[in-house]
Amino acid sequence: MSEIHNLVIVGSGPAGYTAAIYAARAQLSPIVYEGSVTAGGALMNTTEVENFPGFPDGVMGPDLMDNLRKQAEKFGAKLITDDIVEMKLDGEVKTLIDGSGNTLKAKAVILATGSAYKEIGLENEKRLSGRGVSWCATCDGFFFREKEVAVVGGGDSAIEEANFLTRFATKVTLIHRRDTLRASKIMADRAMANPKIEFLWNTEVIDVLGDANMSGLALKNTVDGTLSQRNFDGLFVAIGHVPRSELLGGQIDLDSEGYVKVEGRSTRTNQVGVFACGDLVDHTYRQAITAAGSGCQAALDAERFLAGH
Ligand code: NAP
Repeated sequence: MSEIHNLVIVGSGPAGYTAAIYAARAQLSPIVYEGSVTAGGALMNTTEVENFPGFPDGVMGPDLMDNLRKQAEKFGAKLITDDIVEMKLDGEVKTLIDGSGNTLKAKAVILATGSAYKEIGLENEKRLSGRGVSWCATCDGFFFREKEVAVVGGGDSAIEEANFLTRFATKVTLIHRRDTLRASKIMADRAMANPKIEFLWNTEVIDVLGDANMSGLALKNTVDGTLSQRNFDGLFVAIGHVPRSELLGGQIDLDSEGYVKVEGRSTRTNQVGVFACGDLVDHTYRQAITAAGSGCQAALDAERFLAGH
């Protein structure tokens, strides 16, 4: 008989690592599947985090994740840099299969798979991905030295990307479908004061142009419907995220947008012994600190569940 673990945590980031810290300190010996390419989660692709409490001078996203990871390891969490590719979550013993083909059994599972970048949904956006179209300025900004780029979106992510890209690009045009930003005022003010950023309001990207590489965008004015084209060397898409719940369909109750449904203020899902936290359950707050807080809740819920069994 293969070993039955107390707890497997699927996903990392602030939610998964915090769950791991709490569960490890509770002597549950959690196994954490950090993800093969997404280990550390979205904060691995960011620069300075200014609003995580406890860091008055800010902290670099990857450093913060590295510290959380070390803290989890220090208390005995076993971290595995691989994906879970299949799960059977009903019944008393849950079965999980990882990307290397190993099968694990566990009494409890915490889901913390976070979210993925949302796409505009254009055929040429996909085709020219990596050839001008990107979702990550910190990863790809460097390739746009002395070039002109566009960022689409009106939230904090778009503003953050636009500000960051001004380090490399000669000009950054922020394209937003409305005339008001959704971003927080402090971030919006910073972008407005940046002479390298131009705002293109009430504008939708309707196509990405170019053969081998992206050469420009086809645009539509959302107020009067006017069509236009503009040359750009790059497009950074920063229009939000979608929950990474594709492995869960049919087993775990999801809402209409694909977020995991939890019971009241708890992290309990519809499957006994399965808990969910972080961006996977949260369409409202989606901050590093709220994800960490819900990771803590998930570990406490799992601990209580295991104590009762
Ligand atoms: P968001 O707040 O949901 O904003 C998404 C933006 O993209 C909105 O402006 C939205 O337009 C636009 N959009 C959505 N779908 C679109 C489409 N199909 N075509 C064109 N535009 C589209 O997402 P986010 O900016 O990724 O932020 C997510 C969360 O993370 C927020 O809570 C944010 O505060 C947080 N965050 C914080 C920081 C920070 O504090 N340093 C940095 C990044 C993110 P509408 O406005 O018209 O809906």
